[in-house]
Amino acid sequence: MLRSHTCGALNGGNLGEKVILCGWVNSVRDHGGLTFFDLRDRYGITQVVCSPGGEGQELYEQVKALRNEWVIKVEGEVAARPAETVNGRIPTGEIEIRITGLTVLNKSGALPFEPAEADRIGENLKLKYRYIDIRNEKLQNNLRKRSLFCHSMREFLLSENFIETETPILTKSTPEGARDFIVPSRLNPGKFYALPQSPQLFKQLLMVGGLDRYFQIARCFRDEDLRADRQPEFTQMDIEMSFVEEEDVIGLAERLLKHSVGAVFGLDLSIPFPRMSYSDAMSLYGCDKPDTRIDITYRDLSDEIGRTDIKVLKAVLEKGGVVKGFHVPGGDRLSLKDIENLDRYIKEEGGGGLGWIRFKGEEIQSPLKKLLPAEVVGMLRPPVDPGNSILFFLAGKENWVNEKLNRVKEKVVGRIPGLIKTGVFNFLWITDFPLFEYNEEEGRLQAVHHPFTSPAVTDIKDLAGSPLKARSRAYDIVLNGNEIGGGSIRIHSRTLQEEIFRLIGLPEDVYRERFGFLLEALDYGAPPHGGIAFGLDRFMMIMLGEESIRETIAFPKTQKGTCPLTLAPGEVEKKLLRENRIQIDMPKVE
Ligand code: ASP
Repeated sequence: MLRSHTCGALNGGNLGEKVILCGWVNSVRDHGGLTFFDLRDRYGITQVVCSPGGEGQELYEQVKALRNEWVIKVEGEVAARPAETVNGRIPTGEIEIRITGLTVLNKSGALPFEPAEADRIGENLKLKYRYIDIRNEKLQNNLRKRSLFCHSMREFLLSENFIETETPILTKSTPEGARDFIVPSRLNPGKFYALPQSPQLFKQLLMVGGLDRYFQIARCFRDEDLRADRQPEFTQMDIEMSFVEEEDVIGLAERLLKHSVGAVFGLDLSIPFPRMSYSDAMSLYGCDKPDTRIDITYRDLSDEIGRTDIKVLKAVLEKGGVVKGFHVPGGDRLSLKDIENLDRYIKEEGGGGLGWIRFKGEEIQSPLKKLLPAEVVGMLRPPVDPGNSILFFLAGKENWVNEKLNRVKEKVVGRIPGLIKTGVFNFLWITDFPLFEYNEEEGRLQAVHHPFTSPAVTDIKDLAGSPLKARSRAYDIVLNGNEIGGGSIRIHSRTLQEEIFRLIGLPEDVYRERFGFLLEALDYGAPPHGGIAFGLDRFMMIMLGEESIRETIAFPKTQKGTCPLTLAPGEVEKKLLRENRIQIDMPKVE
């Protein structure tokens, strides 16, 4: 080793020791005669001091010539700092190194940005020089915690008899609802591999192979339009188990999270986590990943509106729409201006406007006041604190109402401090999902999770006549309003699997060509099995209090799926294209 200690190791217990440290120059300060600089590495910062004159003059000149981010080796002696310069905030704050020797291991050019400033830098520049950003304490901490978390999960799963198994990256399509990334095969001209959207089918085949308990920290690839905070490649903790039912997978997942969150974040999670059915989540929160840190739920107002003469709203109900709304506690916490802005937002989004009633003591304030009979006002008051609240409501098609109420709620929560609990981690299971949803664009049913998810045993009878009524054996896990994982009990009968393929509109020749290998495996003694996968990047983001999953990934891509550092994706040599029998034929995009 070039060094005897790291930059975070030395303290008052090392006084007088001769040491060698290596690291990056953090800042050189000339204090009239004495020159100080900080030496930084992953472990911390150590102050180095140098005085001029006599035999030390040459060394002093060398020290003064140091620039930030040069990589150096320092030899010296550990000394106590004068009492008034002790820094209680860092572990090495009591000591400094009296330098006796210096080797410049590598100089650095002027940096495009200082590591400490990275948060104020544009994303492209930051990602282009990601290795400088990684010198930042925050990213170092995030990557270290991620590594510890993986280690801790691995340790837990191995102790529970799981076998870590790698599955192929060059493979065939595994549908998880996204587009595939494809890779041409030179040895099989005209044919392509698909990168796995998840290891789903392989983990099921491992169960057919009798592996019984599998896990993998698996890279998954999904070619999606990167609207939200998504990455084209991301990591899952992927798990599969044989001879299990929902409770077994859910229980295992809870114990795994409790173990690893405890080990890495020092939090004692209380398990079992609460559960909510999909239909309750949709009616109370208007989405299948409710943030239960916000104590605001929706209520259906059809009955109340039916008792009024508000024609526009009644017309919506007659056409099969809904009127839904929510109370915001504290009637005077939003100004009329705030309410106007929310109303404008709804109108911009194509709605007729945002309904509202402000309850102040016995009084109410509302543009609809004249149309609201006293009986209805009474029904609309919140049960708790009935004279102090604002009720917001929207009318329209249910999906639209849910989506827009969620936006309005977000805006209200952003405006009023205290509506969202901070510093808590609310885990929640969502269960009893529908098996299918209707894809209007394609005019066919599609699986809500993936087509390998088993229908609820009691609902198999609905498949033929009313498949949209059938529920699945899927479960999602939500943390503070983010889906962090999901899984299901799988189909292990070939007949049922074929029926599901047909119901989602795959003709026999197509499903045989795509999934023949799975169907065959189901014929050769497939045990009942199920599993789950956690999105590691998103989970770490929430636990670390970050706004973006990019802050938990060493080398993430931009929103457009590019890498400013390597300039991927890039063009390839003509020769390679020819060998792969690929011709680029790019029509002009209008
Ligand atoms: N393969 C699923 C996914 O990637 C997870 C699972 O069902 O285990 O979402």
